[in-house]
Amino acid sequence: MTLIYQSTRDEKNRVTASKAILQGLAADGGLFTPLSVPKLNLNFDQLQHASYQEVAKLILSAFLDDFTEEELDYCITSAYDAKFDTPAIAPLVKLKGQYHLELFHGSTIAFKDMALSILPYLLTTAAKKQGVDNKIVILTATSGDTGKAAMAGFADVPGTEIIVFYPKGGVSKIQELQMTTQKGSNTHVIAIEGNFDDAQTRVKEMFNNPNLRQELLEHHMQFSSANSMNIGRLVPQIVYYVYAYAQLVKTGEIKAGEAINVAVPTGNFGNILAAYYAYQIGLPIGKLICASNENKVLTDFFESGIYDKKRDFRVTTSPSMDILVSSNLERLLFHLLGNDAAATKSLMDNLAKQGEYSLAKVNQSIFDLFAAGFATEDETAAEIKRLYDLSGYIEDPHTAVASAVYQTYAERSGDQRPAVIVSTASPYKFPRVAVEAVTGKDAADDFAAVGELHTLSGVDIPQAVAGLEKADVRHKRVVAVKAMQEAVENCLGLS
Ligand SMILES: *Cc1c(COP(=O)(O)O)cnc(C)c1O
Repeated sequence: MTLIYQSTRDEKNRVTASKAILQGLAADGGLFTPLSVPKLNLNFDQLQHASYQEVAKLILSAFLDDFTEEELDYCITSAYDAKFDTPAIAPLVKLKGQYHLELFHGSTIAFKDMALSILPYLLTTAAKKQGVDNKIVILTATSGDTGKAAMAGFADVPGTEIIVFYPKGGVSKIQELQMTTQKGSNTHVIAIEGNFDDAQTRVKEMFNNPNLRQELLEHHMQFSSANSMNIGRLVPQIVYYVYAYAQLVKTGEIKAGEAINVAVPTGNFGNILAAYYAYQIGLPIGKLICASNENKVLTDFFESGIYDKKRDFRVTTSPSMDILVSSNLERLLFHLLGNDAAATKSLMDNLAKQGEYSLAKVNQSIFDLFAAGFATEDETAAEIKRLYDLSGYIEDPHTAVASAVYQTYAERSGDQRPAVIVSTASPYKFPRVAVEAVTGKDAADDFAAVGELHTLSGVDIPQAVAGLEKADVRHKRVVAVKAMQEAVENCLGLS
């Protein structure tokens, strides 16, 4: 049986996995979502001995079931190789009272690498399967990490072109340099005079603009998305939850079958949604703890059932979570509404027109799986310091949001189940924030902070940061939000 991916906004729009990956977003504006989740027999007596690649094979063959075994082997071995600085790919680190699942050992030292190192292979394989020979144009809005990770994955991949928009002033110095120094003749990086939501909204509009699609087709090109709306991003993220659980069993921290909690620093809701699917296939998860920074639209949603984006956008020290419209929540919403596309569409229309929607009736058992909370800027810095004093380990600010929210959750609920804190970035990506939180003193700049971070933590400076200061800046363009489409046409030689 082939798994069906349906648009969250139109029950007639149904495709297989490879078509969903190729299209990225559904043309009706919805997101392709699995209608049923394969139940897997997760045997941890065996899985505890499996490599990351072997766990990936298990999960990907269940969800991407119109790919052949050979195709998946090719994608998995091409993605999860020596680009990662540890053969474990996603190591689990034990600290006092919590486990950190480090998802930052790939080429851009943030968790986006986990999915974006495999997406180019899934996408070009899907295109070949579908007999498509148009050039694939990847259009991406980034709050900092996706853009770089996507470019690292797609740079010089034949038959692809990649255009990345990021909010000028909305990303860290290191993040910006990582992007603007990107090599590859098919890469384009453009800063916009606006925030991440502006960038994401415009990118969605361009995807759904029939005239622009037609113009591309006439030039033998078509859009696809590397944003977390693409199920080719989502599915590879399920893997590390299963892998982490297997490591806990292997080291004797838990017995197979025992429930664990996971705390996820959340922005676009992709990472935590993958954890939800891991739960659905049978992974013993107690609570999915959705952690936000001061842009706490999701905390309010899980508390009240009302999603309200009409609020001030805050620029925080965890910029990859500075989001007011959390795209992947639409998929959870679809499931909460009993996979009802008409009902989902109506709420999403409300969000677009009135800036909010309110849940009337939902699947309560899904809703109750989630616990949500937020950490203020001060609480986040205090958590970095607390953990450092306790264990000598330094978290990046995104991870610290999750770890702070988890601490509060555990205290208030008394829930003692073992907890995995999903660690989404290396502190070297946000060195100033990390160092200032630990020392209480201002660092001169990002690069001075890198040295200091090394002294404090003893962790080697990753390849992705060393050498960045002197690298060539290749991309210098800044455009107004309303000039984004013109910039795309320009990059592709259409105008
Ligand atoms: C993207 C990102 C997040 C948020 O993940 P979502 O899947 O968008 O919820 C958290 N932390 C870091 C470092 C990120 O890059």
